[in-house]
Amino acid sequence: MNKLVILGAGTAGTMMLNKLARALDKKEWQITIVDQLDTHYYQPGFLFLPFDIYKKNDVIEPKRKFFPSGINSIVSDVKRIEPDKNRIILENDIALPYDFLIIATGARIAPEQTEGLKDTLWQKSIFDFYTIEGALSLTQFFKEWEGGKLVIDITEMPIKCPVAPLEFAFLADWYFTKRGMRNKVDIQFVTPLPGAFTKPIASALFGNFLEQKNIHLTADYSIARVDNEKKKIVSWDDQEIPFDVLVSIPTNMGDAVIERSSMGDELNFIPTDKRTLRSEQFENIFVIGDATNLPSSKAGSVAHFQGDILMKNFLSAIEHHPLKAQFDGHANCFIESGFGKGILIDFNYDVEPLPGKFPFPGIGPFSLLKETTLNHYGKMVFRWIYWNILLKGFEIPMIESQMSLRGKKNNILEPQTSEFNITT
Ligand SMILES: Cc1cc2nc3c(=O)[nH]c(=O)nc-3n(C[C@H](O)[C@H](O)[C@H](O)COP(=O)(O)OP(=O)(O)OC[C@H]3O[C@@H](n4cnc5c(N)ncnc54)[C@H](O)[C@@H]3O)c2cc1C
Repeated sequence: MNKLVILGAGTAGTMMLNKLARALDKKEWQITIVDQLDTHYYQPGFLFLPFDIYKKNDVIEPKRKFFPSGINSIVSDVKRIEPDKNRIILENDIALPYDFLIIATGARIAPEQTEGLKDTLWQKSIFDFYTIEGALSLTQFFKEWEGGKLVIDITEMPIKCPVAPLEFAFLADWYFTKRGMRNKVDIQFVTPLPGAFTKPIASALFGNFLEQKNIHLTADYSIARVDNEKKKIVSWDDQEIPFDVLVSIPTNMGDAVIERSSMGDELNFIPTDKRTLRSEQFENIFVIGDATNLPSSKAGSVAHFQGDILMKNFLSAIEHHPLKAQFDGHANCFIESGFGKGILIDFNYDVEPLPGKFPFPGIGPFSLLKETTLNHYGKMVFRWIYWNILLKGFEIPMIESQMSLRGKKNNILEPQTSEFNITT
């Protein structure tokens, strides 16, 4: 039997498991998936918890519910990957050998990387919404909060779903308006980027939204430390921003197992071929989703597009054929903008978000780079798509893995210039 091990049963790992369980001959392949957790979290739903739009039960399901029959699943932390011996070492020191390995260990927040962030005020006046614990603590806090300075700070790029902090700011504006206390809440959006976002056209649009919603933008701000006593953040060039509540998007890093296995860069992301999704170091290892060091976004939609490419290249690799499928960096993201509206962006490595209609040229029904009610419904329906189509490794009708210019107004098409080629 040939052995395929998938490390990580989150969005990308579960999706690849389902795709490959259907594609590979069960008499020839033994597939094993390993994850430290048995609960699957719908991370895009964390955004909605603090604003009482979703409850905890809306974002959790048992992982095994999405595993096909005939595969092995192991719940265990992985201590180490030993690529030179083609095996991984589980927490009980048992070795799991493989012929091919797919790494899908994702990214996690690392608040300990910023001085003072995870100190006395952590989960009292300083919160994150990138973990279930952080999002739920913030839900409780907001219920009783009487207003003051709300500072939303992105520590450094890249982060998962880079539009999520903007969505958080837009929803905070809506939530405190709905509660009749918006005049008591001063919202500040603080980012290391030169503007509200990474790409010029989208950045200008989101910058206008922030202004219209009376959300103060501080760009080019690189946080050095948090002063817990004086309740302020301090940048490397000594700019101080006071807060009553700080919502931080801490440094995002690949899992510690990547560091323990000496397979990552300085943020524990794995050097991966940006087109084929094969490890740059090891021929029998593929990498997918947030665990890669690719200049594409760290997003579930991106993992979905990568899945089609990885599937084709994996089937070529096991036949010793050249890897022909090429990932173009495609990302597609609905951005919740509050008051029942949303914005849609669609882009890839080479083309920044453009206006137009999606997925049908001229018809839509979704509008690109425009705030509409239908785009909001697109965002809300994504949860159903995630649980029922994406995780099960099925195609999403009309949405192709390669980005299409159909329906886009490409007369303003520009090559990417941003240093942060990573958006949503
Ligand atoms: C607040 C928020 C909002 C978001 N909004 C959107 C959105 O609107 N649209 C969108 O497309 N994406 C969104 N995302 C991003 C999306 O959730 C991620 O990009 C996606 O889940 C990445 O999938 P992954 O499989 O790479 O990683 P994950 O889904 O995080 O899975 C990684 C898995 O690996 C396991 N693992 C890691 N290390 C080990 C180890 N050592 N041993 C065993 N198991 C291990 C973990 O337990 C986990 O199950 C959002 C994310 C957040 C946090």
